[in-house]
Amino acid sequence: MTNYIKGIAASDGVAIAKAYLLVEPDLSFDNEKIADASAEVEKFQKAINTSKIELTKIRNNAEQNLGADKAAIFDAHLLVLDDPELIQPIEDKIKNDQVNAPTALTEVTDQFIAIFEGMDNEYMKERAADIRDVRKRILANLLGVELPNPSMIDESVVIIGNDLTPSDTAQLNKEFVQGFVTNIGGRTSHSAIMSRSLEIAAVVGTKSITDEVQQGDMIVVDGLTGEVIVNPTDDEVIAYQNKRERFFEDKKDLQKLRDEESVTLDGNHVELAANIGTPNDIKGVLENGAEGIGLYRTEFLYMGRDQLPTEDEQFEAYKEVIESMEGKRVVVRTLDVGGDKELPYLNLPDEMNPFLGYRAIRLCLDQPDIFRPQLRALLRASAYGKLNIMFPMVATIQEFRDAKALLEEERANLKQEGVEVSDDIELGIMVEIPSTAALADVFAKEVDFFSIGTNDLIQYTMAADRMSERVSYLYQPYNPAILRLVKQVIEASHNEGKWTGMCGEMAGDEIAIPLLLGLGLDEFSMSATSILKARRQIKELSQSEMQELANRAINAATSEEVQTLVKQYTK
Ligand code: PEP
Ligand code: MG
Repeated sequence: MTNYIKGIAASDGVAIAKAYLLVEPDLSFDNEKIADASAEVEKFQKAINTSKIELTKIRNNAEQNLGADKAAIFDAHLLVLDDPELIQPIEDKIKNDQVNAPTALTEVTDQFIAIFEGMDNEYMKERAADIRDVRKRILANLLGVELPNPSMIDESVVIIGNDLTPSDTAQLNKEFVQGFVTNIGGRTSHSAIMSRSLEIAAVVGTKSITDEVQQGDMIVVDGLTGEVIVNPTDDEVIAYQNKRERFFEDKKDLQKLRDEESVTLDGNHVELAANIGTPNDIKGVLENGAEGIGLYRTEFLYMGRDQLPTEDEQFEAYKEVIESMEGKRVVVRTLDVGGDKELPYLNLPDEMNPFLGYRAIRLCLDQPDIFRPQLRALLRASAYGKLNIMFPMVATIQEFRDAKALLEEERANLKQEGVEVSDDIELGIMVEIPSTAALADVFAKEVDFFSIGTNDLIQYTMAADRMSERVSYLYQPYNPAILRLVKQVIEASHNEGKWTGMCGEMAGDEIAIPLLLGLGLDEFSMSATSILKARRQIKELSQSEMQELANRAINAATSEEVQTLVKQYTK
């Protein structure tokens, strides 16, 4: 039966494909005594063998599609399956206690996990996580349940899940994954942001998609409107195929603007830059005519692995990005973990409000052993092009001064070691906490530039979690309160001869762009796929008219009034 579901449009595009459910299967079982222990041991050995075959396939696939470093995680898992010190006691338990294999497996592995987790040693703690993962696979094989495995997908699908973690998203092979739909999340959750750089259609925050879809159902995802159709009629399939074609035609048309400047009708030039998560995104950046990189989210380098990247690994990644931009500005943001971006191997305690907790610059200043290698890698890479460094989640001027002091220490160290470092690195901050926006005039005296992170600035100003679809009505980029903060930050920077960019999703938003132009924003940084559309729009607007619009908008009372004004001025 055809079913219509509405969610939040998260990534442009139209997808039509079979559903692939990415949900945790039910792995519950009964603790039972068994009569035939040798048959049960045999069953267990069979599950181990099947798990080995599966993991080897996954490992090889990951190596081919995602690189050797991502595949290494599965090597560690294969070692667990081959470890007699773990496997033998499980078989002994089945025989001696006459319990079924799931019970023996769970009890024995629980003991190992407790021992490893109790050790004061990062490496051992990671082994506990490996055992947990491998146990899940063996258990699934014992129970005859299939585990979802996004990295193994080899046909056209639409992924359906409660939420996708950023590392799930990083594993998606865009050749096969046409789109995804989730229960939770908003336009600025990181899986949504990543879907835009992967150019796959996405709808998030549907609340109920996992209850409405069965494995293999046909799904239409309209990432432009947020509509999802489960088991569409033949006519609907044809209509959406046409829409998909029109979408691709428009994309082709936009390519003509690739090498043009982003200039308003009255001759005002702004910079259109791209947000990236990994060096792999550079291809899309160049194809979409970005004038620079306005945000490199380095935390993705730290994710989907089981230990911190070394200074050299980081240096290679930063250098690759900086070199491939051939002298265009690259703004790299230092590590911003926390919120919806977790690093399990740091073993951070759970917090009641992770978005308000121990994260980003707070964590980096508290743990210089993590921060310093990143600063050194960045300084070393600065010799290969035009690097700007910015710190995330800065709430006080002291945090900026402390971060800058660490950077300067590392610069001096490197110079002493005879390593070349650029002396043209601009140092800036993300403005994403209201206290920093309020004190922008003070910050502007000490920083070289600002980049407004509206994804967070909106959630903190409106006190509305960016991940929560229930309060998404409060997540209002066009609220005059937000516009006033943006205006204040831009003016503060200009008064000191500095510049302001914006790297939150608002910078690429069709309704926000006229307002931001009018407010005098210097740099707009967005998903690469939004750049050409933004360029087309800017070329049709007049800066002076947009100034008039912005002046009226900041004096409006509501987000709706602002949207009406934008429509009037951009007709
Ligand atoms: C922001 O907060 O606007 C931002 C760009 O950072 P992130 O989305 O990574 O939190
Ligand atoms: Mg942020």
